Amino acid sequence: MKRLAILGSTGSIGQSTLSIVEQFPERYQVAALAAGRNMNEAFAQASRWRPRMISLATEELAGELAGRLREAGITGIEVVHGTAGTVACATLPDVDFVVSAIVGVAGLEATHAAILAGKPVGLANKECMVAAGEILTRAARERKVPILPIDSEHNAVHQCMRVGAHAEVKTIWLTASGGPFRQLPLDQFANITPEQALKHPTWVMGRRITIDSATMLNKGLEVVEACRLFDVAPSQVRVTVHPQSTVHSLVEYVDGSILAQISVTDMRLPILYALAWPERPASKLTFDLAALRHLDFEPPDFERFPCLRLAFEAAEKGGAHCIALNAADEVAVEAFLDRRIPFMGIPRTIEEVLATTPEAHPATIAEVLAADREARRRARVLLP
Ligand code: MG
Repeated sequence: MKRLAILGSTGSIGQSTLSIVEQFPERYQVAALAAGRNMNEAFAQASRWRPRMISLATEELAGELAGRLREAGITGIEVVHGTAGTVACATLPDVDFVVSAIVGVAGLEATHAAILAGKPVGLANKECMVAAGEILTRAARERKVPILPIDSEHNAVHQCMRVGAHAEVKTIWLTASGGPFRQLPLDQFANITPEQALKHPTWVMGRRITIDSATMLNKGLEVVEACRLFDVAPSQVRVTVHPQSTVHSLVEYVDGSILAQISVTDMRLPILYALAWPERPASKLTFDLAALRHLDFEPPDFERFPCLRLAFEAAEKGGAHCIALNAADEVAVEAFLDRRIPFMGIPRTIEEVLATTPEAHPATIAEVLAADREARRRARVLLP
């Protein structure tokens, strides 16, 4: 029986994780939940799963939840709050596995704390690996703590990497759906509206990641993530546009063999893989290969998607540049959604912030967070 801490339990990865727990009650149990701000969902999850501990974003929300649990006659659940609360959930002594699914750098400290406490981590938060990948992977290596990627591409790569030795890997091929503007002519990019950018062809996701898919910055963040997770150089990572999103990624070996991972586009499968690794439990998440007719692949267009080029450049420099890539994008995406900047203002903002970013490699999470704040400040100065 694995006892889980789920950080980001009310988000889509958190809810999918709970649906896996529901399907495999003999394998998994909920020990701790970090729920954020969604009070009704937090209350529903606490009543349904009866974790030992639950964390809310603020003291006020925690107080409200504690009151509701008392009224409902539910006891034995410790209600905590804030970053310290999330860290407490991640490091609870009886937790065997931590699912890190808090969006943004908010989950960073808790993910780091989980690794330092020797807990295996299922990582769905790509910003963690982008901003602090050097620190997190070093800590994981030192403590021999596995980090199992839940992002579908990296999960696929993780599966394909089990087949050969690290030194035999030539190229990691990350597949990209190409987003909604894969075929839009470059001269129309100036008029893209938030509504158009929020329509993703294959995945239903949060707002920032949907915009990041439209600019392909999401794929850029995944390039950085792949370099850190699998300890390869940026020159060993390539992106291929694969509109069907059927092949989740591929690994090319030095002998010329290329291994691909195919499955349904359902996040529950990478979650199950991460939770169960190194085992593979039987599931109902089957893919109908007999119905498959086409697999298309095409090279990405770096001119229409400059975010991809910027991400490769940041990956090459590492450290502060990767932090700035993520931070500047988050600020720019917000401004685009507020209609303060055009769609192509997103890569322009990132490029300008990267240009003023010093080459540095923060050695602690505090330094990462300081570099993140500083990059956001510089991004905001650039915006109207
Ligand atoms: Mg992905």
